[in-house]
Amino acid sequence: MTETFFVAIDGPAGSGKSSVSKQVARRLGFGYLDTGSAYRALAWHVLASGASTDDQAAVEAAYDTFAPSISLDPDDRSIFVDGTEVTDAIRTPETTAAVSGVAKTLSVREKINDLFRRIVAEAPHPGVVVEGRDITTVVAPDAPARILLTAHPEVRAARRSAEMGSADVARVAEAMRQRDQSDSTVVDFMNAADGVVAVDTTHLNFDQSVDAVLTVIAERREGGRDGR
Ligand code: C5P
Repeated sequence: MTETFFVAIDGPAGSGKSSVSKQVARRLGFGYLDTGSAYRALAWHVLASGASTDDQAAVEAAYDTFAPSISLDPDDRSIFVDGTEVTDAIRTPETTAAVSGVAKTLSVREKINDLFRRIVAEAPHPGVVVEGRDITTVVAPDAPARILLTAHPEVRAARRSAEMGSADVARVAEAMRQRDQSDSTVVDFMNAADGVVAVDTTHLNFDQSVDAVLTVIAERREGGRDGR
């Protein structure tokens, strides 16, 4: 059996990470793994147990009973926890606010990372596009294709508010800034690590961003810049 081709993509909210990663997966016939949805689902699971995600012991305990089912189909964003569909529930402001407590629980991060590696290894696809915050650096530092998507903060805020259907760009920008700041205390997803290709999407439209990522992957699949 040939090894699943691992495409690691990191970046902050509004960089185009999710939409670009999904389209890249469609174009290549690869699976797509949204790691943020697993963090969100675990936050939902902690809240559903009546605990707070600020309580690290509660987060650790909740992980022991965490049975997520995550689709790898880029056109199916459904996610279940122990048979309950939480696709919409994990996107509410309440769950979004709670997820940073989960993200800061390092012992749980290690277990979630193992889960991601297992999902990719067992995927029925020739490759999987895995997107998140620490995929290029922690989850798969040896992946053949590692990409950091970035964009100017104002552009990110405008995209994010358009995505959310909110006209209040300033409020979205502030919420995004706070989440970025909290997340970046755990992992650096603003600067490309060694061997990671940075793609700045500030001046790229969606198709151009997809093409830029596909170009990097094609180079890596052919044996690539670093000789893999
Ligand atoms: O990407 P998304 O906004 O859905 O991620 C939700 C949260 O999950 C992030 O704000 C971050 O706290 C956490 N996360 C993480 N590591 C990842 C993916 C997401 O810590 N690889």
